[in-house]
Amino acid sequence: MDKHWCTACGQAFVPRPQSPRQLYCSKEECQQSRKRLWQITKRKTDPDYHQNQARAQASWRRANGDYWRQYRDTHPDYAAQNRARQRLRNAKRGRPIANSDTSTGEMPVSGIFKLTAIAPDSWAGRREWIVQLDLVL
Ligand SMILES: [Zn+2]
Repeated sequence: MDKHWCTACGQAFVPRPQSPRQLYCSKEECQQSRKRLWQITKRKTDPDYHQNQARAQASWRRANGDYWRQYRDTHPDYAAQNRARQRLRNAKRGRPIANSDTSTGEMPVSGIFKLTAIAPDSWAGRREWIVQLDLVL
């Protein structure tokens, strides 16, 4: 039986006889890596799948609105580490991520913005547009 090298961990493995072209070994983290890549690709290439996932996630968030607050309360080490990492990301990008706690109260600026599609291929092949956003109150 030929040995293969796992795409995720790089270690040699013997593929299952049912799947001779197997690219990932059977370790859980390697299988999770394979599944994650499949899901990213599927989201980018299948608009129906992308929309179904978005709807399912929105539904889950509505049903579990307090999940992350409870998670942070019960995992203080995670919350502290995440806060530190977010500070680094904010410093790198030059400004904090937008949320209600960081609002300065300044009026949004009208102007010309560039929108880049997150899910290309789903809008008639266009990946970006130049649009004008005006403040409407
Ligand atoms: Zn592996």
